[in-house]
Amino acid sequence: MSFDTEAVHAAREDLTALGVHVPPIDLSTTYPVGDVETGGASYENLATGGTPTPGDSLVYQRLWNPTVARFEEALARLEGAQEAVAFGSGMAALSATLLATVAAGKPHVVAVRPLYGGSDHVLATGLLGTRVTWAEPDGIAAAIESDTGLVIVETPANPTLDLVDLSAVAAQAGDVPVVVDNTFATPVLQRPVEHGATIVLHSATKFLGGHGDIMAGAIATTSEWASRIRGVRALTGGVLHPVAAYQLHRGLQTLPTRVRAQQDNAQVVAHWLGKQDGVTRVFHPSIKGCDPAGLVGRQMSGCGAVLAFEVTSFEAASTVAQSCGLITHAVSLGGVDSLIQHPASLTHRPVAPEARPAASVLRLSVGLEDPADIIADLRRALQAARDVATESSDSRVPTESSVSSVSTESRERVLQQS
Ligand SMILES: *Cc1c(COP(=O)(O)O)cnc(C)c1O
Repeated sequence: MSFDTEAVHAAREDLTALGVHVPPIDLSTTYPVGDVETGGASYENLATGGTPTPGDSLVYQRLWNPTVARFEEALARLEGAQEAVAFGSGMAALSATLLATVAAGKPHVVAVRPLYGGSDHVLATGLLGTRVTWAEPDGIAAAIESDTGLVIVETPANPTLDLVDLSAVAAQAGDVPVVVDNTFATPVLQRPVEHGATIVLHSATKFLGGHGDIMAGAIATTSEWASRIRGVRALTGGVLHPVAAYQLHRGLQTLPTRVRAQQDNAQVVAHWLGKQDGVTRVFHPSIKGCDPAGLVGRQMSGCGAVLAFEVTSFEAASTVAQSCGLITHAVSLGGVDSLIQHPASLTHRPVAPEARPAASVLRLSVGLEDPADIIADLRRALQAARDVATESSDSRVPTESSVSSVSTESRERVLQQS
């Protein structure tokens, strides 16, 4: 079956036999056990990452939930993976993956920047017992040590849409499993398993949910890794709520249509931005120079719906973000409505100064609005930034950026706490 058909029907095949049209939601936190011995055996199986056989008690929602399992099955099929494991957030999914490699005695991680700020932060602090070596994509093989458990990359990367060649990464990684954060591309545009990834990571809060009302994460992987990561989830408890799982499963049905329509809008907006006075650079794979390895077409079937752009200064960036009206000034991305944010101040605030995005860069997640309305909003915001620049040069106010020192202080504070 085609991808779009799978998106609509995956993990719903039994519904007609059940006499219903949409999946039932099972909210049980506990499940009756029969006799103590079989109940105990079910507990043992599920708490160590196993899957239930029909007729088994599910014991406790932290170990297994049928509504969550439906969403997991659907996502695994879309990613072309054997299984998926869902979590209460993308960070919970990443944390469980890191704990699984620490538990296996391989705490060293090789990671390619840029990554989402939270991912960068959890690796940089070593909070979960990992040790990180930051590498360029072509330096991965050289960075691998005897206790390297994972290679972590993100493509397109947050926030500057850098693309990483996954087959080349997999070749460099050799036997070490490659984790790919596929949040920006979604399986609609890129299926990392087909390019050698072992673990695909999602902040399902973004495109998979798609409407800004679900906090969730997931990994799609082999049965062996899924079992290990489910074992960590059972123990550490970062589970997904069944109502959120229901909403995510429903969200998958429109995922291909949403992603393609948002991507079309993003392309229009990216090319318009490239021609504006005061915009010095646009980051989107559709823009000349942003896909030097020619990965669109080979690894990704499209350019995605998130873009970034650089303006003339921190002051201009902050004025643009605050002057948008239709576009909400807020973190997060991938929803049906457009969002703009300043990565150096917000999502990438905890990242080390040398790896932090420039203070003049804004990230824009393009939604399903008419692109003409998005452009009109950006036109007003860019004009506001030019007006502020003219005023301040008239009154000779220094326009030195202050964001970098603020971010450094906050990073030190967070590092001390953790
Ligand atoms: C948001 C995000 C995360 C973190 O996910 P949460 O659901 O916010 O915990 C991880 N990776 C990327 C690329 C993200 O955009």
